[in-house]
Amino acid sequence: MPTLVGADGARSQVVQLAGLPIEGESGLGGAVNVWFEADLSQYLAYRPGVLYWHAAPGTPFLTGAGTLICHKPWTEFVMVIAYDPATETIPHTEKFAVARIRQIVGDDTINPKIKGFATWTINRQVAARYQDRRVFAMGDAVHRHPPTNGAGLNTSIADAFNLAWKLALVIHGQAGAGLLDTYTQERQPVGRLVVDRAMRSATEMAEVHLALGFSPGQSEEEGRAALRGLDQPGPAGEARRAQVRAALELMNYQFNAHGFELGYRYRGGAVVPDGTPEPRPTRDPELYYHPTTWPGASLPHAWLDRDRRQVSTLDLVSGTHFSLLTGLGGKAGPKQPPPPPTPPVWPSTCTPSAPTTDRSTPTATGRRCAKSAPAARSWCAPTGTSPGAPRPTPHSPPRGSPRYCASCSPRGPRNRYDGRPLPGVMGDVELS
Ligand SMILES: Cc1cc2nc3c(=O)[nH]c(=O)nc-3n(C[C@H](O)[C@H](O)[C@H](O)COP(=O)(O)OP(=O)(O)OC[C@H]3O[C@@H](n4cnc5c(N)ncnc54)[C@H](O)[C@@H]3O)c2cc1C
Repeated sequence: MPTLVGADGARSQVVQLAGLPIEGESGLGGAVNVWFEADLSQYLAYRPGVLYWHAAPGTPFLTGAGTLICHKPWTEFVMVIAYDPATETIPHTEKFAVARIRQIVGDDTINPKIKGFATWTINRQVAARYQDRRVFAMGDAVHRHPPTNGAGLNTSIADAFNLAWKLALVIHGQAGAGLLDTYTQERQPVGRLVVDRAMRSATEMAEVHLALGFSPGQSEEEGRAALRGLDQPGPAGEARRAQVRAALELMNYQFNAHGFELGYRYRGGAVVPDGTPEPRPTRDPELYYHPTTWPGASLPHAWLDRDRRQVSTLDLVSGTHFSLLTGLGGKAGPKQPPPPPTPPVWPSTCTPSAPTTDRSTPTATGRRCAKSAPAARSWCAPTGTSPGAPRPTPHSPPRGSPRYCASCSPRGPRNRYDGRPLPGVMGDVELS
């Protein structure tokens, strides 16, 4: 049974030659990685992190002069420089890279050792199908997005896991070939979800820079003046500081989105339903993981005692075999509590839509595009409820800061990302 698996990255030839249809846009921006060594302990050891954003007056609006990813504390890093390939070039030279690193760090005396350059492109794409007969594709080959939320590799590994156990069963004659079709059914909606979240997170980064007072094309002096406004006493200064707090709060959707990372559920594919209703979220499903043993959800962690050792439920199901989890002594486990009667539904996405009928209470009905002229103000209605779930009732958006829609995106018209989610190709996957 000859089988081909294309795990050949975002420029996948396998996807291309197999004719797997790709949805979405490519070339939304360019980026260069610069790998270097420099001892930055004095600046970073007392405020450890893995990712250091750079925001400074007079540097590119959204990304500053570059972002540092820490590879080895505090001596080895990758500097990511985002740029617009239509108007800019980033020289792959030591001279340029050293100057940029010094600018980000703010220290002209450091002498970084440059170890390599790599270029990549910002895309917003997902394959509509992950397979054509016995040709499969996985990883960045089928979902391409910016690194915001850090979900690319994790999603690729989950693709590999999903495909590997199914291939093994089919190849060893323990399952019919139809099982392989469930690979796309289960994984493609997750790829779409990841692409959409990563794009939204990239767009939301603008909120921090706006709150700092930065805007596209601003001079260094203008930027410094705007920054000084953050220190002013009184209501004006307090409003600016509140905007910064709200913008930082929004970053939880990139850095602390446990529901997004763990909470997706397969609603079909190889999952055998047990007839119970799907538990609905009681908190923001992107931020909060809702543990459940509902079929199609990932198994929650719980501590158990085994042979006088504490083990996780997750350790019990590792390996290459099926596991049957039961209650004590092999009996049925406790029944799930019934779902709450009127669960709150949070928007899983924000789609530009027609103006809401109730303009008098904007914050209760949608998100406002702060830069649009009042007459042409665009609104985003909460969307993304599950089939069968009640239409979302008007609610306050989870955070207070204004949103910028794609038409006033800081990257300008070249950025063709319109803020809308990718079309639902394989049905819906939602966080719940
Ligand atoms: C700056 C940056 C930061 C990131 N941070 C994170 C993070 O924090 N967390 C996370 O989960 N993800 C992160 N990612 C995403 C992650 O790197 C990718 O999602 C992941 O590498 C995809 O793995 P892959 O195996 O599908 O593709 P790749 O890693 O691109 O591997 C594909 C491989 O196929 C090879 N290949 C291609 N064509 C051929 C061919 N014709 N013949 C033979 N070999 C071929 C390539 O050489 C390459 O080795 C980040 C990405 C970037 C750019």
